[in-house]
Amino acid sequence: MSRAVIALGANLGDRGSTLRAAAAAVAAVPGVRPVASSHEVESVAVTLDGPDTAKPRYRNAVVVVDTDLGPQELLDALHAIEDAHGRTREVRWGDRTLDLDVVALQDDDGTDVLVDTATLTVPHPRAHERAFVLAPWHDADPSAVLPGAGPVADLLAAVGDDTERVDEPRLFDEPTRASRPADATAATDVADATAATPPGAAS
Ligand code: AMP
Repeated sequence: MSRAVIALGANLGDRGSTLRAAAAAVAAVPGVRPVASSHEVESVAVTLDGPDTAKPRYRNAVVVVDTDLGPQELLDALHAIEDAHGRTREVRWGDRTLDLDVVALQDDDGTDVLVDTATLTVPHPRAHERAFVLAPWHDADPSAVLPGAGPVADLLAAVGDDTERVDEPRLFDEPTRASRPADATAATDVADATAATPPGAAS
Protein backbone atom coordinates (compact mmCIF):
# COMPACT_ATOMS: atom_id res chain seq x y z
CA MET A 1 0.00 0.00 0.00
CA SER A 2 1.14 3.53 -0.58
CA ARG A 3 -0.06 7.00 0.23
CA ALA A 4 -0.50 9.37 -2.70
CA VAL A 5 -0.87 13.13 -2.87
CA ILE A 6 -2.92 14.12 -5.91
CA ALA A 7 -3.36 17.66 -7.22
CA LEU A 8 -6.57 18.60 -9.02
CA GLY A 9 -7.02 21.61 -11.29
CA ALA A 10 -9.69 22.99 -13.63
CA ASN A 11 -10.23 26.28 -15.45
CA LEU A 12 -13.09 25.51 -17.82
CA GLY A 13 -16.74 24.74 -17.18
CA ASP A 14 -18.24 24.45 -13.70
CA ARG A 15 -14.84 24.13 -12.06
CA GLY A 16 -16.05 23.50 -8.50
CA SER A 17 -18.42 20.73 -9.55
CA THR A 18 -15.71 19.20 -11.70
CA LEU A 19 -13.20 19.11 -8.84
CA ARG A 20 -15.77 17.64 -6.45
CA ALA A 21 -16.82 14.98 -8.98
CA ALA A 22 -13.18 14.19 -9.76
CA ALA A 23 -12.32 13.79 -6.06
CA ALA A 24 -15.27 11.42 -5.66
CA ALA A 25 -14.15 9.50 -8.75
CA VAL A 26 -10.61 9.18 -7.39
CA ALA A 27 -11.96 7.89 -4.06
CA ALA A 28 -14.16 5.39 -5.95
CA VAL A 29 -11.30 3.81 -7.94
CA PRO A 30 -10.96 0.17 -6.80
CA GLY A 31 -7.93 -0.05 -4.52
CA VAL A 32 -8.08 3.64 -3.55
CA ARG A 33 -9.24 4.94 -0.16
CA PRO A 34 -9.69 8.61 0.74
CA VAL A 35 -7.50 9.95 3.56
CA ALA A 36 -7.64 13.74 3.52
CA SER A 37 -8.55 16.64 1.28
CA SER A 38 -8.20 20.38 1.00
CA HIS A 39 -10.63 23.16 0.38
CA GLU A 40 -10.56 24.58 -3.14
CA VAL A 41 -8.37 27.55 -3.99
CA GLU A 42 -8.53 29.95 -6.93
CA SER A 43 -5.64 31.51 -8.80
CA VAL A 44 -4.75 33.16 -12.08
CA ALA A 45 -4.08 30.86 -15.06
CA VAL A 46 -0.39 30.25 -15.82
CA THR A 47 0.57 29.54 -19.45
CA LEU A 48 3.95 28.86 -21.05
CA ASP A 49 4.22 32.67 -21.41
CA GLY A 50 3.49 33.30 -17.73
CA PRO A 51 0.38 34.39 -15.76
CA ASP A 52 -2.56 35.31 -18.01
CA THR A 53 -5.35 37.28 -16.33
CA ALA A 54 -7.44 37.14 -19.55
CA LYS A 55 -7.89 33.39 -19.17
CA PRO A 56 -10.47 31.81 -16.86
CA ARG A 57 -9.12 31.53 -13.32
CA TYR A 58 -8.06 28.12 -12.05
CA ARG A 59 -9.65 26.17 -9.25
CA ASN A 60 -7.23 23.77 -7.53
CA ALA A 61 -7.32 21.33 -4.66
CA VAL A 62 -5.34 18.41 -3.24
CA VAL A 63 -6.50 15.02 -2.06
CA VAL A 64 -4.50 12.44 -0.14
CA VAL A 65 -5.38 8.79 -0.65
CA ASP A 66 -4.11 5.36 0.29
CA THR A 67 -3.85 2.98 -2.63
CA ASP A 68 -2.97 -0.58 -3.53
CA LEU A 69 -2.27 0.54 -7.10
CA GLY A 70 1.24 0.94 -8.44
CA PRO A 71 2.33 4.44 -9.53
CA GLN A 72 1.60 3.91 -13.24
CA GLU A 73 -1.71 2.18 -12.49
CA LEU A 74 -2.67 5.18 -10.39
CA LEU A 75 -1.71 7.60 -13.18
CA ASP A 76 -3.72 5.54 -15.69
CA ALA A 77 -6.75 5.73 -13.39
CA LEU A 78 -6.31 9.51 -13.10
CA HIS A 79 -6.10 9.83 -16.90
CA ALA A 80 -9.34 7.85 -17.24
CA ILE A 81 -11.02 10.31 -14.86
CA GLU A 82 -9.60 13.27 -16.84
CA ASP A 83 -10.90 11.73 -20.06
CA ALA A 84 -14.34 11.22 -18.51
CA HIS A 85 -14.42 15.00 -17.97
CA GLY A 86 -13.67 15.76 -21.60
CA ARG A 87 -10.00 16.52 -21.14
CA THR A 88 -8.02 16.97 -24.37
CA ARG A 89 -4.26 17.34 -24.59
CA GLU A 90 -3.55 19.52 -27.62
CA VAL A 91 -1.94 22.43 -25.83
CA ARG A 92 0.65 21.97 -23.13
CA TRP A 93 -0.41 24.10 -20.16
CA GLY A 94 -3.53 25.07 -22.14
CA ASP A 95 -7.02 25.48 -20.73
CA ARG A 96 -8.46 22.27 -19.36
CA THR A 97 -11.63 20.98 -17.81
CA LEU A 98 -9.63 18.79 -15.47
CA ASP A 99 -5.97 18.11 -14.69
CA LEU A 100 -4.91 15.44 -12.21
CA ASP A 101 -1.25 15.12 -11.16
CA VAL A 102 0.54 12.75 -8.82
CA VAL A 103 2.48 15.10 -6.55
CA ALA A 104 4.13 12.66 -4.13
CA LEU A 105 4.05 9.03 -3.04
CA GLN A 106 5.04 7.25 0.18
CA ASP A 107 5.26 3.56 1.06
CA ASP A 108 3.18 2.42 4.02
CA ASP A 109 6.28 2.64 6.22
CA GLY A 110 6.56 6.33 5.32
CA THR A 111 9.44 5.92 2.86
CA ASP A 112 9.28 8.32 -0.08
CA VAL A 113 8.64 6.62 -3.41
CA LEU A 114 10.61 8.17 -6.29
CA VAL A 115 9.52 7.52 -9.88
CA ASP A 116 11.24 8.69 -13.05
CA THR A 117 9.91 7.04 -16.19
CA ALA A 118 8.90 8.34 -19.62
CA THR A 119 5.35 8.86 -18.43
CA LEU A 120 5.64 9.62 -14.72
CA THR A 121 7.92 11.70 -12.53
CA VAL A 122 7.28 11.67 -8.78
CA PRO A 123 7.65 13.88 -6.85
CA HIS A 124 6.09 16.15 -9.46
CA PRO A 125 9.02 18.28 -10.68
CA ARG A 126 7.17 21.61 -10.48
CA ALA A 127 5.24 21.08 -7.24
CA HIS A 128 7.77 23.02 -5.15
CA GLU A 129 7.20 26.24 -7.14
CA ARG A 130 3.40 26.14 -7.43
CA ALA A 131 1.41 27.89 -4.73
CA PHE A 132 -1.75 26.37 -6.22
CA VAL A 133 -0.37 22.94 -5.28
CA LEU A 134 1.44 23.85 -2.05
CA ALA A 135 -1.41 25.87 -0.48
CA PRO A 136 -4.09 23.17 -0.76
CA TRP A 137 -1.57 20.44 0.12
CA HIS A 138 -0.69 22.34 3.29
CA ASP A 139 -4.41 22.74 3.98
CA ALA A 140 -4.97 18.97 3.61
CA ASP A 141 -1.81 18.04 5.56
CA PRO A 142 -0.18 20.85 7.55
CA SER A 143 2.92 18.75 8.33
CA ALA A 144 3.48 17.56 4.75
CA VAL A 145 7.01 17.38 3.39
CA LEU A 146 7.87 17.41 -0.33
CA PRO A 147 10.63 14.80 -0.79
CA GLY A 148 13.92 16.43 -1.72
CA ALA A 149 12.56 19.94 -1.20
CA GLY A 150 11.40 20.33 2.42
CA PRO A 151 8.31 21.12 4.47
CA VAL A 152 5.40 22.27 2.33
CA ALA A 153 4.78 25.14 4.77
CA ASP A 154 8.30 26.48 4.14
CA LEU A 155 8.04 26.05 0.37
CA LEU A 156 4.72 27.90 0.36
CA ALA A 157 6.20 30.74 2.41
CA ALA A 158 9.11 30.95 -0.05
CA VAL A 159 6.97 31.19 -3.20
CA GLY A 160 4.27 33.35 -1.59
CA ASP A 161 0.67 32.23 -1.40
CA ASP A 162 -1.21 34.05 -4.20
CA THR A 163 -4.21 31.69 -4.01
CA GLU A 164 -7.62 32.54 -2.59
CA ARG A 165 -9.55 29.93 -0.62
CA VAL A 166 -13.03 29.18 -1.97
CA ASP A 167 -15.77 29.21 0.67
CA GLU A 168 -16.90 25.61 0.12
CA PRO A 169 -16.38 22.43 2.19
CA ARG A 170 -13.33 20.20 1.72
CA LEU A 171 -13.55 17.81 -1.23
CA PHE A 172 -13.83 14.71 1.01
CA ASP A 173 -16.09 14.41 4.04
CA GLU A 174 -13.31 13.10 6.27
CA PRO A 175 -11.40 15.28 8.72
CA THR A 176 -7.77 15.98 7.86
CA ARG A 177 -5.82 12.83 8.68
CA ALA A 178 -2.94 12.83 6.25
CA SER A 179 -0.06 13.00 8.67
CA ARG A 180 1.80 10.01 10.01
CA PRO A 181 1.60 8.72 12.66
CA ALA A 182 -2.15 8.73 13.28
CA ASP A 183 -2.65 12.45 12.90
CA ALA A 184 -1.64 13.74 16.31
CA THR A 185 -0.24 16.84 14.58
CA ALA A 186 -2.80 17.29 11.83
CA ALA A 187 -5.10 20.24 12.24
CA THR A 188 -8.79 19.54 12.01
CA ASP A 189 -11.17 22.44 12.06
CA VAL A 190 -14.28 22.24 14.17
CA ALA A 191 -16.77 22.18 11.32
CA ASP A 192 -14.97 19.26 9.71
CA ALA A 193 -14.64 17.37 12.99
CA THR A 194 -18.37 17.52 13.65
CA ALA A 195 -19.11 16.30 10.12
CA ALA A 196 -16.52 13.54 10.32
CA THR A 197 -17.17 10.06 9.09
CA PRO A 198 -15.03 7.06 10.05
CA PRO A 199 -11.85 6.49 8.02
CA GLY A 200 -12.62 4.80 4.75
CA ALA A 201 -16.38 5.21 5.09
CA ALA A 202 -16.67 7.12 1.83
CA SER A 203 -14.67 4.68 -0.30
P1 AMP B 1 -0.45 17.15 -17.98
O1 AMP B 1 -0.61 17.95 -19.24
O2 AMP B 1 -0.14 17.99 -16.78
O3 AMP B 1 -1.58 16.22 -17.72
O4 AMP B 1 0.84 16.22 -18.18
C1 AMP B 1 1.05 15.47 -19.35
C2 AMP B 1 1.83 14.20 -19.05
O5 AMP B 1 2.70 14.35 -17.96
C3 AMP B 1 0.99 13.02 -18.67
O6 AMP B 1 0.50 12.34 -19.80
C4 AMP B 1 1.92 12.16 -17.84
O7 AMP B 1 2.36 11.01 -18.55
C5 AMP B 1 3.09 13.06 -17.55
N1 AMP B 1 3.50 13.09 -16.16
C6 AMP B 1 4.76 12.99 -15.71
N2 AMP B 1 4.82 13.03 -14.37
C7 AMP B 1 3.54 13.20 -13.94
C8 AMP B 1 2.96 13.32 -12.65
N3 AMP B 1 3.71 13.29 -11.52
N4 AMP B 1 1.62 13.45 -12.57
C9 AMP B 1 0.86 13.49 -13.71
N5 AMP B 1 1.35 13.39 -14.96
C10 AMP B 1 2.69 13.24 -15.08
